[in-house]
Amino acid sequence: MKATSQTKEEVSLKLLVNKETNKVLFAEAGKDFVDVLFSFLTLPLGTIARLVEKKSSMGPITVGCLNSLYRSVRNLDEECLRTATCKEKLLQPRNSSDCYCKGLKLNIEDTYPTMYFLCSKFDEIFCGEFLSTSIDKKCACGNPLTRRVFLEPLGKGFVKDNATFVITDELIVMPYSMQFSTFAYLQNHGIKSTSSVKKMTVNVTKEKVLQFLSIIWLLFVCWLLYVFSYFHHRFIIVD
Ligand SMILES: [Zn+2]
Repeated sequence: MKATSQTKEEVSLKLLVNKETNKVLFAEAGKDFVDVLFSFLTLPLGTIARLVEKKSSMGPITVGCLNSLYRSVRNLDEECLRTATCKEKLLQPRNSSDCYCKGLKLNIEDTYPTMYFLCSKFDEIFCGEFLSTSIDKKCACGNPLTRRVFLEPLGKGFVKDNATFVITDELIVMPYSMQFSTFAYLQNHGIKSTSSVKKMTVNVTKEKVLQFLSIIWLLFVCWLLYVFSYFHHRFIIVD
């Protein structure tokens, strides 16, 4: 019989859960999940604003001024902008680490693949000094950068293939080594017996990663609002 179902990329994650509160104490994860988590640090703000607004299954995350900033650029008349590509640069900013992120098992970014352009006379005069993501730039030799090239991925992700990690509820990621003591960790969290916890395995999909990014984004925006409010009350501006 022919298989008709589509393969959905998933990454497995082992959780240690407090039976009483049903709260996750920590997770044990391999390379695939930790790479996705670390890749959050490479995302430009414009990309995060676009992803959480459009794709979150929790509904659009619209709290805060950074979403407003993104929408302001989207609604801006192109006549106000310096060049035609400025809007694209702001709304779909390039990830400078995309060579590392291309091979991720759960890749949430939607701006791939990044195209690069070399000097149009590259073959004739071996002029390859400049590599640009814009086709509308010129090489130092005066010729346009119209020769399209794709960069080979610089390996897959960020951490080593067989590495295992512990991720705490505060999003601290550390190697799962002999130094990590589950018992000591549980004691620090007020749990005296291992019978109070249970192990679970969950499969994380791309949609779940987007939800997670949305939560982090929400916390970040709330933190920003707190900082703005703090400075507003702390400093009195005297004319
Ligand atoms: Zn050139």
